Amino acid sequence: MQTFFESPLSSVLSRDYLNPKSDGKHYQSFTLRNFREIPQISRLSSEQIEAIEVVGSVFPFKTNNYVVDELIDWDNVPNDPVFILNFPQKEMLAPDQYEIIADLLREKAGKDEIDQAAMKIRWELNPHPARQESNIPVHKGSKLKGSQHKYRETILFFPSQGQTCHAYCTFCFRWPQFVGMNDIKFAMRETRLLINYIQDHPEITDLIFTGGDPMVMSTKLFATYINPILKAKIKHLKTIRIGTKALSYCPYRFFSDNDSEELLDLFNKITRSGLHLSIMAHFNHPREMETDAVKDAIGRIKETRAEIRTQSPLLKHINDQPEVWAKMWQAQVELGCIPYYMFIARDTGTHQYFGVDLEEAWNVFRGAYQKVSGLARTVRGPSMSAYPGKIQVLGVAEVCGEKVFVLQFLQGKNPDWVGKPFFAQYDKNAKWLNELQPAFNEDCFFFEKNH
Ligand SMILES: *Cc1c(COP(=O)(O)O)cnc(C)c1O
Ligand code: SF4
Repeated sequence: MQTFFESPLSSVLSRDYLNPKSDGKHYQSFTLRNFREIPQISRLSSEQIEAIEVVGSVFPFKTNNYVVDELIDWDNVPNDPVFILNFPQKEMLAPDQYEIIADLLREKAGKDEIDQAAMKIRWELNPHPARQESNIPVHKGSKLKGSQHKYRETILFFPSQGQTCHAYCTFCFRWPQFVGMNDIKFAMRETRLLINYIQDHPEITDLIFTGGDPMVMSTKLFATYINPILKAKIKHLKTIRIGTKALSYCPYRFFSDNDSEELLDLFNKITRSGLHLSIMAHFNHPREMETDAVKDAIGRIKETRAEIRTQSPLLKHINDQPEVWAKMWQAQVELGCIPYYMFIARDTGTHQYFGVDLEEAWNVFRGAYQKVSGLARTVRGPSMSAYPGKIQVLGVAEVCGEKVFVLQFLQGKNPDWVGKPFFAQYDKNAKWLNELQPAFNEDCFFFEKNH
């Protein structure tokens, strides 16, 4: 069957570069090509299987045996949140888009024809939100294409070989890079340029490895990025963060892969060098906190003196209930993780399926926040990662008779914007910053004035 939905990199990389398979637990990935081999698939109706094939032709689709066997509650399918998290659903496409692809599949059209139709639909789905390509730093005339320096203290780094994931989230805002829309793919092979850039920018304290998922790399490969950074001993660099969903999709990465010990040794090496190491773990549902495997993995990571902070977008059909978040944050605190961010889903790809409006996002956030003790209230949100910055919805209020959203920047392209409350007209249906108007008859928001 079609294979064009796969990350182009996954075919380029030799097996050695990705996780060496463990002796104990055997991993198996499932994509459009082989998902029918999943035994539980026989429980699905033919309509549900068709939906996987149709929607999986437009968006990336990949899952694995840990997700299938240990996270999904198959008795609860099709409503199971982890099923929805990995398996394409019919409603993720508009009906007309769905029919175009479904017809082609029914006619047994060729791969090229299907891919062309899929590409047309992808372009309709705002593949490049938040103008990410505009924050690429330049060092001595060279663009650091594999990084993004948007907020003064932090630089994001996208190692070229960490641009895939153990499984793909159906809501992923980086989805275009997994379906071959490569023009904005952030990826950089060389660490040297990055080190030079950080050395020249004393304001940078945090280096964030992100992807895809940097933890798909073998330890040996990941070390080729980390070791030169440690060796450079950059005084102002205080923290290395690793953004990963491996704790959720592949916890075995941290204790039973052939190179798990080396990975934990590398974490130890980072913390012993005096840097703070923060694993920015992506979890979407309390189910992901419940397996023995994830608990073991968290324990092993914490032994290296790394901290684990957690973040997730708020998603309809997966976690749009305050109880779900409260339970997830409590489980995280219990396991020694620090709840960090609740994001509002970006307006791209499957957003019309997963999107939650701003008022509801605030209600879910505060509903959950009210249910947990102070130790879980380290979390911030709900926050939109928009072009000018990370904007938190503080709430809905009435000021001088006008109903407004109260907002503030948690991060801004201009650091002066951070922490100042500002106001937008209340709009019941608004789901993103671009749908908001300034309150009180102002012409524009304060951050739009002169920057
Ligand atoms: C979220 C984000 C960061 C990190 O911000 P913190 O508030 O320090 O966690 C850095 N760069 C970009 C582009 C981001 O979106
Ligand atoms: S783990 Fe992150 S980058 Fe990977 S598919 Fe999920 S949301 Fe996208």
